[in-house]
Amino acid sequence: MNCEKCNAEMVAFVDGVSCGIKCPNCGYNIVTSCLRIKDIPAETCTIMIGASEKPEIAALRTIADICHCNYVEAQKKLKSGFELKNLTVYKAQLILQKLDKAGIIYTAVPVFSDL
Ligand SMILES: [Zn+2]
Repeated sequence: MNCEKCNAEMVAFVDGVSCGIKCPNCGYNIVTSCLRIKDIPAETCTIMIGASEKPEIAALRTIADICHCNYVEAQKKLKSGFELKNLTVYKAQLILQKLDKAGIIYTAVPVFSDL
């Protein structure tokens, strides 16, 4: 999908509870409701999980759930921090909800909230 104003390629973004697509060129954006997130085909989201020296059990459970691994592996991942790449906006938002719930520190990109 291209920007209505300058015709540049729009990119998907997730920012907390809102998400949508945004023009990296001129900043024009369309924020979509959750019901329409599935319509965005781009798999462009990356979530970076912050490193945690002593993760709580809720964090381990959440990471094990998201990564489909056991608690030992989840703890290793959390110790160094890690990235989840090539996520759709829809999937990224589901993961962010779980991370928020478990109080896990993360950064999601692309994020345009600071523009
Ligand atoms: Zn534009």
